[in-house]
Amino acid sequence: MRIIGVPKESLPGEKRVAATPESIKKLKDRGLTVRVQKGAGAAAGIDDAAFAAAGAELTDTAPFDADAIFKVRPPTLDEVWKIKEGAFVVSLIQGERNPGLVDALAGRKATVLALEKVPRVTRAQKMDVLSSMANLSGYRAVVEAATHYQGFFSPQITAAGATPPAKVLIIGAGVAGLAAIGAARALGADVRAFDTRAAAREQVESLGARFLEVKLKESGEGQGGYAKVMSPEFIAAEMELFRQQARECDVIITTALVPGTKAPVLVPRDVAECLKPGSVIVDMAAEQGGNCELTRPGEIVVHNGVQILGFTDLASRMASTSSRFFAMNLVHLCGELGKGETLTIDLENDVVRPALLVHEGKILPPPPVKEPAPAPKPPPATAKPVQQQITSPTRRAWGSTVGGLAVIVILFVLGRFAPGDFLQHSTVFVLACFVGWQVIWSVSPALHTPLMSVTNAISGIIIIGGMLQVGAGFDVASILGALAVLFAAINIAGGFLVTQRMLKMFRREGPAEPAPSHGGGHK
Ligand code: NAD
Repeated sequence: MRIIGVPKESLPGEKRVAATPESIKKLKDRGLTVRVQKGAGAAAGIDDAAFAAAGAELTDTAPFDADAIFKVRPPTLDEVWKIKEGAFVVSLIQGERNPGLVDALAGRKATVLALEKVPRVTRAQKMDVLSSMANLSGYRAVVEAATHYQGFFSPQITAAGATPPAKVLIIGAGVAGLAAIGAARALGADVRAFDTRAAAREQVESLGARFLEVKLKESGEGQGGYAKVMSPEFIAAEMELFRQQARECDVIITTALVPGTKAPVLVPRDVAECLKPGSVIVDMAAEQGGNCELTRPGEIVVHNGVQILGFTDLASRMASTSSRFFAMNLVHLCGELGKGETLTIDLENDVVRPALLVHEGKILPPPPVKEPAPAPKPPPATAKPVQQQITSPTRRAWGSTVGGLAVIVILFVLGRFAPGDFLQHSTVFVLACFVGWQVIWSVSPALHTPLMSVTNAISGIIIIGGMLQVGAGFDVASILGALAVLFAAINIAGGFLVTQRMLKMFRREGPAEPAPSHGGGHK
């Protein structure tokens, strides 16, 4: 398995390509050969010359004779018969929507990795095509909504009149929903969102949107933290909430889905009819049946002046970036397919095995679901919880008392036996240690970064003190003073370095001059 073939996507309108010059370089570094069909990247803005410069071999026809085929969309049955017998096929497969495809691939003795089956676990994030595409698509859904909506997203005050921010409702706060919230907030919209998983609340609120609730209490968390199918009563309560929201919202973006099921209908006809003419619904679940009753996949439906966008190609509409993400997801997946010049399958690999639909022509059953580790047993009722043991006021009071007594004893011994002003200095030193220990111990870890700024200020004072102690001679005070200067300088430099790194994580990339705000953007 040394030669990878990348054909031009055959699905009409699909602009993405499964390899980019960047990914080809990485695959070549590993010793693999990549053959790309001429024109495969044209719709994504990648010309043949760029592929050739990255080291790809260009072919006039689809390179189905390669050892492994990398594709975006599932191969058609016609394509399957052209694929070399025993080849690897790495692509979205979506067997439930493509009857006969998996059998046909098995008939070619292929080894099939279905990208939609890569588990959504932390280790597999960099190979998770669904997440990277959903992320882009959530953003694009907002761009499409803004294009079709005939108003501003941000509040505007002009000489000709003022407009309030567009009110945007996002249903489903998974990967796509959160990306949509971020994009809509960045455009200045007033955003509210709903999800059945309670864990979504914090993420929604951290993006500056309002989290909506229904009166009926029912947990939306299924196995392993994934969403579960909700009861008909809960869906009815949701629809009632969306009916109220539709009366005031301008845009609804729906992303609700439980993996492996048809999308729930959450915006029936009567809810859509509550929207004002000119409003927009973007139904991201169009391909899975749609969250809106009026959606037609791939089309724009206009109903009572409301536009319902059922686009199923949102990621493809950003083909250049989505191809880059898709191709890099595949490069990372190759990292799980052995090392060196050939691609191999490890049936024990916890990312590869769930995605492996067919192995050397044999259709595999889904791997057994791993039971989550049992929760640790609570301590016996008589024992105090560990946290309480550490922080209980009584214990702390004892600690302080013992510490205080120890300081008094040390000071007494020094006062009795130490010479001259040594006592005065050591008193300050011991007291500083004691007070510092008490102060820092009480600061919660979340506040350690601001604490670092304070310690930097203290280190500055130490440096001045140390410099005053450094004399011309080579005595104990000079050595200690020099050491104090050295350690305080290391502390200051290290403190600034860590603080800068932390701040960089929160900083937005972009122009140096921020655009004037109209009340939108993240807090
Ligand atoms: P996801 O599984 O991460 O998110 C789905 C969310 O819906 C989950 O948070 C889940 O809790 C929530 N949900 C489930 N049932 C709900 C209900 N009854 N009410 C409210 N919320 C509910 O999925 P994702 O990766 O974010 O993708 C979302 C949708 O977007 C999927 O349908 C996906 O296929 C689609 N998608 C469409 C395009 C396109 O071009 N149209 C592109 C990418 C993804």
